[in-house]
Amino acid sequence: MGFDTSGLLPLSDALQGMLEQLACCCDSEQLPLPQALGRILASDIASPLAVPPFDNSAMDGYAVRLADLASGIPLIMAGKAFAGQPYQGEWPAGHCVRIMTGAPVPEGTDAVVMQEETQADGDRITFLTQPEPGQNIRRAGSDIGKGACVLQAGTHLTPREMPLLASLGIATVPVRRPLKVAIFSTGDELKPVGTPLAHGDIYDSNRYGVRAMLARLGCDCLDLGIIPDDPAPLRAAFIRADEEADVLITTGGVSVGEADFTKQLLDELGEIGFWKLAIKPGKPFAFGRLPRAWFFGLPGNPVSAMVTFDQLVQPALAKLAGQRFERPLQLQAVTTEPLKKSPGRLDFQRGILSQGPNGLEVRSTGSQDSAVFSSLSRANCYIILERERGRVAAGETVTVEPFGGLLL
Ligand code: AMP
Ligand code: MG
Repeated sequence: MGFDTSGLLPLSDALQGMLEQLACCCDSEQLPLPQALGRILASDIASPLAVPPFDNSAMDGYAVRLADLASGIPLIMAGKAFAGQPYQGEWPAGHCVRIMTGAPVPEGTDAVVMQEETQADGDRITFLTQPEPGQNIRRAGSDIGKGACVLQAGTHLTPREMPLLASLGIATVPVRRPLKVAIFSTGDELKPVGTPLAHGDIYDSNRYGVRAMLARLGCDCLDLGIIPDDPAPLRAAFIRADEEADVLITTGGVSVGEADFTKQLLDELGEIGFWKLAIKPGKPFAFGRLPRAWFFGLPGNPVSAMVTFDQLVQPALAKLAGQRFERPLQLQAVTTEPLKKSPGRLDFQRGILSQGPNGLEVRSTGSQDSAVFSSLSRANCYIILERERGRVAAGETVTVEPFGGLLL
């Protein structure tokens, strides 16, 4: 069908081309467990213990030996075992031990019978069921064996990993230092929030979106503000970012015609490729090397900036930071309304995914213009429409990608 004749670079080629050049650039350090939240694990974590560390009861009930139950007569309670207070006494024949959930099972226990399956008459306990060997006993090491790898290097530490590490008694964690990312916006029309607008001005919104995404990723951000379309301050900003950060991300000034300053400067300072991507929104994109830092130039249009960051920059930053990265799941949903689309680019339309009577349904957030920010703020997913696809009719099945941790 000849779409490649358009000269636009497929997203997957752009991503692969970048990732091939990048490697982790963040050293590791040891941090106390609470401070490790949000960091990337620098090495595999092997369990120093078996979990659970001892055989223990899964129920409130009675620890028994099967041989004692064979006669069918009630057993006498010899004593009690609590979590944190193991049963210490003798365990004569014909006796059982009252036991609570989490308590170590006494030596010789064959099974734990839950309280509801017994009748107590003072210390005389009648068993209403015949237990299976091992019943209601959590065996030492049944959750995690000693020495087993519980978390892999590259794991982003979230609240889900904290209790796991604590359960293993791990007090300090090997993590990567955060990736340092400098950002600035380019454009004479841009004003920071909190200042009045003159005619022709707009507020700089991209920097706040990019900062927020960097915070979610656990990067340290050096915010260099708004830089006018003027070679001297632009050059100074590029040089400062290159000296102080691992990565520079800018927005604006990479589209054809307007990019002249940026392009000239970047050609002079480093090796930067200017790409036209076969995606919508987000066609213009720049990537390359300054003397020290990696450079990503995002398009100025706000939705394009967010989408190219999400799809291209996020995986690249993850690799530089030492993070194992997986894209969110993609699902199939039925569109409840027609979707405008022309062949030639991979579309990341913004949609609202919901559960319909017959499965997942999706509808558009309305205008998909790359300058319409409400298309993103009202959405909870991308509607990903294949490059060669044309207009989509209501009732057709489309691929959706729910927003994950970054854009949620
Ligand atoms: P550019 O890529 O510089 O040609 O900008 C494309 C469009 O995005 C223009 O309408 C700009 O005014 C707008 N734009 C560029 N940077 C920003 C920004 N930081 N915040 C909001 N809009 C922007
Ligand atoms: Mg501009």
